[in-house]
Amino acid sequence: MRIHHLDCGPMRPPGGALMDGVSPGLFGRLTCHCLVIETDRDGLVLVDTGLGLRDMLRPWPRLPALNAGLLRFRFDPDRTMLRRLKHLGHSPRDVRHIVMTHLDFDHAGGLVDFPAARVHLMEPETVAARRRRGLLDRMRYRPVQWGDTHRWHPYSERTGGRWFGFDAVVQLDNLPPEILLVPLPGHTAGHAGVAIETPRGWVLHAGDTYFNRAEVHAGEGASCPPGAAAYEYMMAWNAPLGRANQARLRALVRDPEAPVAVFCTHDPVEFVAMSIWSGRDVPQAADEPATAMATDAA
Ligand SMILES: [Zn+2]
Repeated sequence: MRIHHLDCGPMRPPGGALMDGVSPGLFGRLTCHCLVIETDRDGLVLVDTGLGLRDMLRPWPRLPALNAGLLRFRFDPDRTMLRRLKHLGHSPRDVRHIVMTHLDFDHAGGLVDFPAARVHLMEPETVAARRRRGLLDRMRYRPVQWGDTHRWHPYSERTGGRWFGFDAVVQLDNLPPEILLVPLPGHTAGHAGVAIETPRGWVLHAGDTYFNRAEVHAGEGASCPPGAAAYEYMMAWNAPLGRANQARLRALVRDPEAPVAVFCTHDPVEFVAMSIWSGRDVPQAADEPATAMATDAA
């Protein structure tokens, strides 16, 4: 098994360090941290998809104008999962499974680019996305991105599995046992982390459970940069539940009995750190977060 870390939705939001905690100047950097897992027997498995090719080519009205305006996505078709996989030498048909943390527009945009893949996700997320009840859900859930929803494979929260003290779906259909869904609701109703046992140890893609590394990895007294905190609060389905799950992740990363590398979707420092940790796919573009950010995360 090998994991590639890809940023399939780079953003340059106004606010600089108020958004990411490190960037000098007017604009910060946020990532859409997605994974490509090369499995031994089950082809390619994606974790989230970022923005899709059509989102990049014609963003409007596919994407919610308020969010996309606040975040200032860099609309570059070469940064989509579809094009990045081709550069890695894979065909879209090699993607057999996609495991979703949730269905927000910045995570689900590439679903339509891989129509043959089965989509694994938590059942409450499918319910909320189909209902699109209220302004927030109509902004975040964009049915035009999903393709055929008959390929969605929802899992109940009551599966009975456990992983390092968390409830977990420990056996996803037709996927190796090294890939688990870990329900972490709060950001959305059916939000989940994706745990993967790699040859180098466990990793947990925590999705949007938190937006900045300070919320989980920093010591006492550290806080999320205010711009990121405001966006996080604006997008929360249930903010107290989200904060409770952040506290559980803080306990996890401090537990010496639980050697798990935890990272979220939008923190650019964690993206660089995990790319280096995996030993591959260190960002090569000149406008990627600088190496100094990895040093900051160490
Ligand atoms: Zn997100």
